Amino acid sequence: MKRAGLLLAISLIVASCATMQPQGQELVARAVQAMGGAETLAGVKTLSVKGTVRQWEPEQSMVPGGEMRFACESTFEAVSDVGTNATRIDWVRNFAYPAPRTFTFSEIVTPDAGYVAGIDSNGRTKQSLDSNPPAHAMSGLRLATSQRELRRGSSLLSLEMLKNPDRVSSAGAVTVGGVSYPAVDYRAGDQTMTVLFDPATGLPARIRTLDYDNIWGDVTYDLVLADWKAMDGLRVATSRKYELNGRTVIDIKITDGKVNAPIAAERLTIPAAFKTGAPKPATGPVPYQWVIRRQFIGTYLDSDAPSYDTRATSGLRLEERAPGVQHVVGGSHHSLIVEMRDYLIVFDAPVSDGHSKWVLNAARTKYPGKPVRFLVLTHHHMDHAGGVRAFAAQGATIIVGQGAGEHFRRVLAAPFKRNPDLGARDLTATPIAEVGDKRLFNDGTREVGAYVIENPHATGLMIGYVADARLGFVTDIWSPGAGPLPDKLNPNLAALVTGVKKAGISPARFAGGTARWPTMRRSRRSKGNSSSRGTDHGPGLRSQRSARADCRTGAPGPP
Ligand SMILES: [Zn+2]
Repeated sequence: MKRAGLLLAISLIVASCATMQPQGQELVARAVQAMGGAETLAGVKTLSVKGTVRQWEPEQSMVPGGEMRFACESTFEAVSDVGTNATRIDWVRNFAYPAPRTFTFSEIVTPDAGYVAGIDSNGRTKQSLDSNPPAHAMSGLRLATSQRELRRGSSLLSLEMLKNPDRVSSAGAVTVGGVSYPAVDYRAGDQTMTVLFDPATGLPARIRTLDYDNIWGDVTYDLVLADWKAMDGLRVATSRKYELNGRTVIDIKITDGKVNAPIAAERLTIPAAFKTGAPKPATGPVPYQWVIRRQFIGTYLDSDAPSYDTRATSGLRLEERAPGVQHVVGGSHHSLIVEMRDYLIVFDAPVSDGHSKWVLNAARTKYPGKPVRFLVLTHHHMDHAGGVRAFAAQGATIIVGQGAGEHFRRVLAAPFKRNPDLGARDLTATPIAEVGDKRLFNDGTREVGAYVIENPHATGLMIGYVADARLGFVTDIWSPGAGPLPDKLNPNLAALVTGVKKAGISPARFAGGTARWPTMRRSRRSKGNSSSRGTDHGPGLRSQRSARADCRTGAPGPP
């Protein structure tokens, strides 16, 4: 009897072991083995890869909530030195959006500084503009983001995890697409990555971070690894796709890889002039999605304030365009605050809720006792609407173009626990009003309009108009300063001219929703120009002159 009981106990233990899945560090060890073994991985001193990248931006779609915009197609060559943890990537990036152009540049990322040689963005910083040839030190935000993504994509991540068992913990099983993956959490700095393993091969299949997206709130951001191939004894995932909330936004193909090819030291060296004073990697709430995805479309402003260049300006500020009309400038994106008798109207909520809180605070100080009753969003793109929640939270009605209502209802219903600028709350009761054709706000003191115009940039896009000031507000379809005036109007400018005519309005000037540095200088010349506000006699001479200046840079001027 005794013996039978012992056998039963042993068989129960054996049975439970047989059904037990590998967990935690066992999963990591299995992955290391599947990638070539600890010895092979530890023998990697340098890694050189070539490949191609395609990117899509979901929040620059033509239709609100519609198909993602194809943004960019690139080739790259990356070299990494394992000992110094330095990586260089040489890029040729062919952008399709917002305008076709090619940027050829190099990035060097080291543990304590980042560097960009060449022009990588239309949103250039002062340091990039001042340097000849163009170059700049990465902001701390970009450096932290680059480091996170290099670590996530590294073929040696599993080895790093194996060496740091105290930072690895079991994450149980994570189900994606109906498949259950055993997973671990790996803590690196203040970041946690969840690594999901292929139950069949043991290889890492998906590496997840929980990010904040300024439109969709709390999102998953996954690197999906596939098509493993042996390269000099190391198994490398040659297909790497990034999924944002389940949609593929980056598709990387590794076409070539070499282990331990020599790398000349100077290729990984940041020039002293840029290394000195270069920001350290940012910690805390890094806006990873903003930093990553503004680079998709070649418009990232590489600064430690996401919406303005800390080396060029002291920050956001108000400029009065007409009595009771403040243009929020100093940043990459602008809003317009219009004073009514008892309340305020704000056009656009760019970048983030942090940016919006600055605007709300400035509006409160400038116009005490007048709440922002209406937020007019010219269009749904992430750079102009990413601060919508802060306005909704303080009770504004959101005014959107035809077809965008349902999109913004879903946006405001999305959870946003990871929003660094605004505490989680229920915004589902926020009033949202769609504008079919035009919406006029008239309280007997002044008339302000929002007009939907047909255009190639975004369906339902609206322009604003303050009638007494003959001041328009336009975003994205007018790009003054982007180059010499074309012989004929480009489709965006033509759309604006047609839209203004159709609306029956007669703007003498436009305030822009996006910074174009040369135009900002022009705008400043007309600062405080009281004659530019509408009078019975129409715009003053100086206003006409400033309108002509705008025409030279592509503005339609008065129709
Ligand atoms: Zn846009």
